[in-house]
Amino acid sequence: MLRPEKGPRSGILLPFLLALLLPVLAGCGTLLEIDLRAASPPRDALVVSFIDVGQGDATLVQTGGESYLIDGGEPEAGPRVVDFLRSRGVEELEAIVASHSHSDHIGGLPDVLEALPVAEVYVSGYTTGTSTENALLRAVREEGADLLEARAGLRQQWGGATMTVVSPPNDSDGGLFGDANEDSVVPLLEFGSARVLVTGDAKSRAEEYMSTGPYAGDLAVLRVAHHGSSSSTTPLFLDRFRPRVAVVSVGADNSYGHPTPQTLRRLDTVGAEVFRTDEHGDVIVTIENDELDVAVTSP
Ligand SMILES: [Zn+2]
Repeated sequence: MLRPEKGPRSGILLPFLLALLLPVLAGCGTLLEIDLRAASPPRDALVVSFIDVGQGDATLVQTGGESYLIDGGEPEAGPRVVDFLRSRGVEELEAIVASHSHSDHIGGLPDVLEALPVAEVYVSGYTTGTSTENALLRAVREEGADLLEARAGLRQQWGGATMTVVSPPNDSDGGLFGDANEDSVVPLLEFGSARVLVTGDAKSRAEEYMSTGPYAGDLAVLRVAHHGSSSSTTPLFLDRFRPRVAVVSVGADNSYGHPTPQTLRRLDTVGAEVFRTDEHGDVIVTIENDELDVAVTSP
């Protein structure tokens, strides 16, 4: 079930089926009595699920029968991430990308590593030595996953999509910025003509690096950096990447004031349609036959 912790509800939205019916469904309170378990998405689509983990990030990528996870929220969000993966038919992960070592991104990953077979875990190489980071590294070791560094230029086939890391820079291009947020691993997914960018907590320096590099270009979907903080999503970045859909992963009434009015204004200026996990719950984007659908669950 998607939200066992949320108290009594008479049913659960089935995001994918609703997406087929309604191209864009926002803030809908419709309830369907349908079992979500083992709802695997079609193999020939790219499905990117921005999981509602409160203040934090967790993004599931499914394509070609393969599954990948980018971040896993705070430690207390771990069980919810595992439940969500299972609800989407995930039995194993080809790889996890740990964007950076802050707890709102990697805290829930040990639960995922314990629950499912995971082949590889990618990190930026910028270490903080925190207990959260150590817990992740211990889980990687104990579960036998390979630990690898991911820097700009790394390119892999993720099922039917091509994944290219676009930041942080590799050593021949200046190396790490020396800041956990700026050094977030940023995967770019390309699927047909559609491009999806998942930016971790990258800030203005990383955004400038990406904006002036070879991977700038229009986006079907942008996972807005750093939960909509005003120090990210700069006008330069938006000008170079031009998102059609922008997803903010953020907790309701968070103490940071995320997302900031400035960021929301900038996104509006470039015509991006904004979805927020605090308002929409899980945001599930399906790209198939060059068409893009967005489905949401109410939080
Ligand atoms: Zn964060």
